[in-house]
Amino acid sequence: MIIEVTSDASDSDIAQLCKLHTAHEDVTAWPIRHAARAFIVISGDEALIPVITSPFIIGRHETGSSGYWLVDRAHEIAPTTVAVGDGTVGDGGFWCAAGPCALESFDDAVETGLAVRAQGASAYRVGVFKPRTSPYNFQGKGRLGLKLLAELKDAVGLPIVTEVLDPRDVEAVADAAACLQVGTRNMTNQALLKELGGTPRPVLLKRGARASVEEWLRAAEFIAAHGNTDIILCARGVVSFDTSLRFAPDLGAIASVRNRTSLPVVFDPSHTAGRSDAVAPVALAAAAFRPDGLLIEAHVRPERTHRPGDGPQAFPPHRLADLLTACQEVTSLANQLTETISAGTR
Ligand code: PEP
Ligand code: MN
Repeated sequence: MIIEVTSDASDSDIAQLCKLHTAHEDVTAWPIRHAARAFIVISGDEALIPVITSPFIIGRHETGSSGYWLVDRAHEIAPTTVAVGDGTVGDGGFWCAAGPCALESFDDAVETGLAVRAQGASAYRVGVFKPRTSPYNFQGKGRLGLKLLAELKDAVGLPIVTEVLDPRDVEAVADAAACLQVGTRNMTNQALLKELGGTPRPVLLKRGARASVEEWLRAAEFIAAHGNTDIILCARGVVSFDTSLRFAPDLGAIASVRNRTSLPVVFDPSHTAGRSDAVAPVALAAAAFRPDGLLIEAHVRPERTHRPGDGPQAFPPHRLADLLTACQEVTSLANQLTETISAGTR
């Protein structure tokens, strides 16, 4: 449940209200402020939450069966745009974060970063904590890699988007990067999501490969309920019985989240396609669903990547500008057609 209080209530007034609501030991409550409004988030069985009367309380919001309220577009709390460094996602432009899967050779990483920047990328994606399907693959440079991210940012001149796997690393990753990525395997890692609620950085939240759109929005709600609404949703393929691509591109999810939340949504064609020749067609198909941008793996020398799957799915950086231009055209065509069709002027 979410209790809304007057935005001019002081921190100590709100703390006092939190205390009154948590008379039962199995109820917890904490304050958050979003969109110039103040709330008390309460977790616990509704029957255990007392009904308190106070001049500060202006609403009791039932969070209902969807399990998300703060990120529900109807409530106008979640932002429509999210800043990543000096770029913005969701402002009507086409944002793109591109770069290698993992930081390996520093020189290759700089070269790739400069190439994607010259080709129009707004952010540089690169991993130092890598979730892997096998414990025998390279797991990333870890904390040592975090030190290199600052150098990489200066050398490349783009804000860094990088994955965080462990709640204990959130602070260190937030010091090193402009945006923290939650990967598909961690979408339901609630300890991590809660910790990300306290970071001053935006979070790029990937959809779990087996998660419904509703579960994905609940994961976003975990971050928002713990204090951070700067969330970029990142759609990517889902598990299917068919293996024509690595994952099935569930593009309808882009439209579905658009209807349910105002948070920006981007698409990752790389981990959907699983091979470089399919990245452009998947990205173009996704563009017709009008995402706010793309997350693309790119590498100047894909044959040098350590993990077997990373090289074959890397998009050639020198083709990125062409791909982004084509995607923008598809998106604007889709916009025009959708508008004329919904206006009944076909
Ligand atoms: C990645 O972005 O490198 C990655 C591992 O993606 P996903 O979590 O979508 O598999
Ligand atoms: Mn990857």
